[in-house]
Amino acid sequence: MIKQLLQFKRRTSSNLEESGFDICIIGAGMAGATIAAYLAPKGVRIALIDQSFEEKKRIVGELLQPGAVLSLKQMGLGHLLDGFDAQPVEGYAILQGDERITIPYPNHCKGMGLHNGRFLQQIRASALQNTTVTQIHGKALQLQENERHEITGISYRDSLTSKIKTIHAALTITSDGFFSNFRDHLSNNEKTVTSYFIGLILKDCETPFPKHGHVFLSGPTPFICYPISSYEVRLLIDFPAEQLPKKQLIQTHLDVNVTPYIPDCMRNSYQQALQEGGFKVMPNHYMAAKPIIRKGAVLLGDALNMRHPLTGGGLTAVFSDIQILSAHLLAMPDFSNTDLIHEKIEAYYRERQHANANLNILANALYGVMSNDLLKTAVFKYLQCGGMNAQESISMLAGLNRNHYTLMKQFCFLTAFGACNLVQHSISNLPKALKLLSDAISIIKPLLKNEVPLAVLFYHYLEKINYRAYSGYGANVQRP
Ligand SMILES: Cc1cc2nc3c(=O)[nH]c(=O)nc-3n(C[C@H](O)[C@H](O)[C@H](O)COP(=O)(O)OP(=O)(O)OC[C@H]3O[C@@H](n4cnc5c(N)ncnc54)[C@H](O)[C@@H]3O)c2cc1C
Repeated sequence: MIKQLLQFKRRTSSNLEESGFDICIIGAGMAGATIAAYLAPKGVRIALIDQSFEEKKRIVGELLQPGAVLSLKQMGLGHLLDGFDAQPVEGYAILQGDERITIPYPNHCKGMGLHNGRFLQQIRASALQNTTVTQIHGKALQLQENERHEITGISYRDSLTSKIKTIHAALTITSDGFFSNFRDHLSNNEKTVTSYFIGLILKDCETPFPKHGHVFLSGPTPFICYPISSYEVRLLIDFPAEQLPKKQLIQTHLDVNVTPYIPDCMRNSYQQALQEGGFKVMPNHYMAAKPIIRKGAVLLGDALNMRHPLTGGGLTAVFSDIQILSAHLLAMPDFSNTDLIHEKIEAYYRERQHANANLNILANALYGVMSNDLLKTAVFKYLQCGGMNAQESISMLAGLNRNHYTLMKQFCFLTAFGACNLVQHSISNLPKALKLLSDAISIIKPLLKNEVPLAVLFYHYLEKINYRAYSGYGANVQRP
């Protein structure tokens, strides 16, 4: 059915100029397809372009934190998680040596583990069933500008005819993913590779804690796993490097740093997956959002902002951005006033920074912590204490608590706890405790500088932003 819909809408027009669109969306990936699915039923006329509408097998975007599930439900798109064997996830398990902790998501909220390709096809089909959406198979080539340097649409190469065509729209949403070709024109930032993830699918695998995301801290580098169907588990193994590792290096990393630490119950499926040799390798990027605000265009998704995928926070950020941007666009009577669209884009960039700072900081800070022996042990013991330590940490990881003060408080408590623990054990640990403190500062300082500039803190204080707007239950992204 989905396949039929995707093929039926294939565009065959021979026109070289397309106009009459409110929005042109570059990239029908997670961000582009979802905002199309949300806005189209509200009468927004959309051109949705992608170079491929085929289902892909990717290792990205397979765990939706409860914050992402909640956003989907708020947009009326929760049903898109049904019908393709997606699995509920109830919380996290953290394993170090023989010790194990489980932390449930707050208030029985659930995340979802799934095949990203299958989920994306559902979202695309939902968008394309609207008569207000025109599906365009092609590769976007360039942004079109008028004499006032305002963006008026795009040029693209039609996949069927290879002809170069143009689309005109009041607003161009650039959501062409982490290798974005258009970022240079709309953003002031460079992406950096933090590490690589090696992805394996373990079939018929029993995990230590069913229906949980797992973080394994026993080896020198972290690895994580979660269910993606009723019989498959995704294993993502961190490989610290800035360049794509060679196959031989990956094999050695698996043999030395991973295989010995795989729990017994997962070992058979893991060995089987290695023998089949079907692993994929993906770079993990960090890029804070530094948009250049230009009339007629806006960035969305990985094209704008990326964080380490260790915490599975990417789609929580994407869906929350879609809610914020859409609330602003839908507050306009129509798309005829370019000045008003410009104001709305400015407001979106401002608000999304508050909404996503915690997700971004937490992802990269946790990656830093879990790659550092002293801090890794400290975080494990800290969470083992339970109570507010565990509850506030998991609610931020789940994307349900976006309060910056909670994040800073928890990070300070964690480092103080780690340092005190070391000194309490023996005063000769004082140099180690000082190293732990200095490592923690060097992890958090650049992230805070990038993600929560002073202006943002003052903005919260002065405007008394209602944090509940971004913190879960009953959340409504429209400002009061
Ligand atoms: C290893 C890894 C694991 C991850 N795991 C998770 C996870 O478990 N949970 C989570 O929430 N997030 C995760 N993420 C992050 C998440 O996957 C991304 O944030 C999300 O996919 C971004 O969506 P997007 O639409 O911006 O990009 P994409 O989904 O990559 O979509 C971009 C689209 O643009 C199209 N396109 C590109 N260029 C052009 C062009 N010139 N013309 C036309 N079309 C074009 C592409 O074909 C594609 O369809 C992970 C990321 C990585 C790297």
